[in-house]
Amino acid sequence: MLWAIISDIHANIEALDAVLRDVERRGVDQILCLGDVVGYGPQPREALIRAFEWEISLRGNHEEAVLFYAEDFNERARIALDWTRDQLNRRDYPPEENSRMWEFLDGMPESHQVESALLVHGSPRNPVREYMLPRDARDETKMSEVFAGVPGKFCFVGHSHVPGVYTQNNTFLAPGRVPEGLEPDGKVVVNVGSVGQPRDGDPRSCYCTWDGDRVWFHRVEYDFRVTQRKIVETGVLPQYLAKRLAEGR
Ligand code: ZN
Repeated sequence: MLWAIISDIHANIEALDAVLRDVERRGVDQILCLGDVVGYGPQPREALIRAFEWEISLRGNHEEAVLFYAEDFNERARIALDWTRDQLNRRDYPPEENSRMWEFLDGMPESHQVESALLVHGSPRNPVREYMLPRDARDETKMSEVFAGVPGKFCFVGHSHVPGVYTQNNTFLAPGRVPEGLEPDGKVVVNVGSVGQPRDGDPRSCYCTWDGDRVWFHRVEYDFRVTQRKIVETGVLPQYLAKRLAEGR
């Protein structure tokens, strides 16, 4: 069995379709999504329709905010969330399609276990909202609590959009330092990076494959200029959200 683990698509269809083509080419059996299918990007409806087909889609903080509240979001994220909500309520689409999207959002679980892997959007301590960032690797209290929440060998997370591997001996390995098909000795927390809004300085989409024992990171190029144009054409989404796609931050 080979799984693709993807996260933080953020309504970026050009990035998502490029990743899905790569996933197909690698003979992946199932797609597991760690959340934030929507938010920031210009095509939330199209992203959700693709997510209907996947094995699992967890609830990210952007799904939570679209459903319930957004008060701890910054201005740019909040504008994008209000716009996203309007898109999912559009009256020029069949009402059944709108309800299916809302029901799907509402049904997204906060965590999921697949064989030896715990899947969450944020962290095992706070599955929807806590960030795992490279500097946390040296925070022994945080890391020991995080690993205490990992029942098996693997925990896959997203949310920070910064891919890499956190090990139990307080190190963080960026994908460039992770061997192909990493087979860890102890427990690991793997941040799979972001499909639709990478923030590690590399604008290419990022995701992982996993065979139950080994992990691979993949980077996929896509035409972010098309997505940038779509963001600008909404007339509502902040320009900054287009700009950052080119910079990968
Ligand atoms: Zn995100």
